[in-house]
Amino acid sequence: MKSSEIRSQFLQFFESKKHAVVPSAPMVVKNDPTLMFTNAGMNQFKEYFLGNTDPKNTRVTDTQKCLRVSGKHNDLEEVGMDTYHHTMFEMLGNWSFGDYFKKEAIEWAWELLTEVLKIDKDILYVSIFEGDSSEGLERDTEAFELWKKLVPEDRIINGNKSDNFWEMGEQGPCGPCSEIHVDIRSAEEKAKISGAELVNKDHPQVVEIWNLVFMQFNRKANGSLEKLPAQHVDTGMGFERLCMVLQNKKSNYDTDVFTPLIREIEAITDVTYGKDEKIDIAVRVIADHIRAVAFSIADGQLPSNTGAGYVIRRILRRAIRYGFTFLNTKEPFIYKLIDTLTKQMGKAFPELVQENNLITNVVREEEASFLRTLDQGLILLDNVIAESDSKEIAGTKVFELYDTFGFPDDLTALILRERGYTMDEAGFKKELQKQKDRSRAATKVATSDWVELKEDDEEEFVGYDTLQTNIRITRYRKV
Ligand code: ATP
Ligand code: MG
Ligand code: MG
Ligand code: MG
Repeated sequence: MKSSEIRSQFLQFFESKKHAVVPSAPMVVKNDPTLMFTNAGMNQFKEYFLGNTDPKNTRVTDTQKCLRVSGKHNDLEEVGMDTYHHTMFEMLGNWSFGDYFKKEAIEWAWELLTEVLKIDKDILYVSIFEGDSSEGLERDTEAFELWKKLVPEDRIINGNKSDNFWEMGEQGPCGPCSEIHVDIRSAEEKAKISGAELVNKDHPQVVEIWNLVFMQFNRKANGSLEKLPAQHVDTGMGFERLCMVLQNKKSNYDTDVFTPLIREIEAITDVTYGKDEKIDIAVRVIADHIRAVAFSIADGQLPSNTGAGYVIRRILRRAIRYGFTFLNTKEPFIYKLIDTLTKQMGKAFPELVQENNLITNVVREEEASFLRTLDQGLILLDNVIAESDSKEIAGTKVFELYDTFGFPDDLTALILRERGYTMDEAGFKKELQKQKDRSRAATKVATSDWVELKEDDEEEFVGYDTLQTNIRITRYRKV
């Protein structure tokens, strides 16, 4: 089944259950000071859950463009390394605003997966919230009993608070969730294992595809929970992961959501995907990141030096760097993928067709300018090497290249290694730390889906740099 049919089948199924099909909200959030990008299907319905606005329909369904590169949901470092986390992805969802609850949500999810889409029941696991006595939260026996009618008991797994209890923030709606996981290990592989290993939802080839959240409590300012007067359902299923399962693949990148892009990258750069892990990671990063960048620009967010624009610029630069370093691309080429992407997704998301020219031009310009930076950085690095009387390059020098000239430290490390030099990693980190200390607001940690900014500590987000070394510098400036 083609991905476009899978998307339609999902929406049609919930339409048949009296849901209104609504459009995806923009991926770039313009009217919510607490959120830069949509990171889940439920974002656009936040006001309904908080009870601030009444919904037009009490049952809705859609596919939502999501971006998970900041705050609580930051998957950037996983992207390319694994084969099922993306920066931009589609989240299929169905919602009940004070309408149906656990019974329908669970039964319909199962019906869709096993009867309509015909996924083999034997590869599905479900999880339920096991409870948390320290918080006075009970096990979700209601969900357990409902699942028991559909799934053998040994495939209903208990999940802890971090995986199976959802909270909007420190206050507000919250409740237990049930996840559905798919085991994509081969029968051969499974024949070799038994017992707990068979139902291990944390195995890398047991992939979470759908999360059903049951909002039944309201967390009050003092931390206590009260029952919500109207209970809600919020579900989210990873579209690309569902395509992987239905197209019998082991990786999202082997589905028709990504293969046209990957074939195009192969043709342009003259590499073959699937032979060398380093090249494969680079190809996946580029195929993934171009989607994030293209959809952002189509939604009106151009790359820039501040806020959401800076996040987009960093994502594009990360793709350029992977191409430059591992695919040996020294000329702009990522912009050439836009036509393929538009052809693949333009029907479901016409904004790609409308903005095709703008996206292409902006990406080409960004590429050209960052490749110039990389070229200049290489010359500067040559000078640094020539002037160094040690085989280890000082951390302050690496930091200067990074901070003043925008030359990525991981690239510096790679080039130094190739030339028989090393870099003073500790010295570099010390400089980074000093910079971090200079902007005290950087200690602000986003722990919930929304970061509530108070008026008196309002800051302008200037951007962050995510480095291969897993250090993230968050830059804020007081305004
Ligand atoms: P995971 O544990 O795999 O990171 P999650 O629990 O963070 O997923 P949810 O917040 O429950 O994800 O989102 C609902 C669904 O969206 C998930 O079940 C998954 O199928 C999909 N999903 C989540 N993050 C990503 C991502 N980065 N790329 C693609 N699909 C994703
Ligand atoms: Mg996650
Ligand atoms: Mg999860
Ligand atoms: Mg989840």
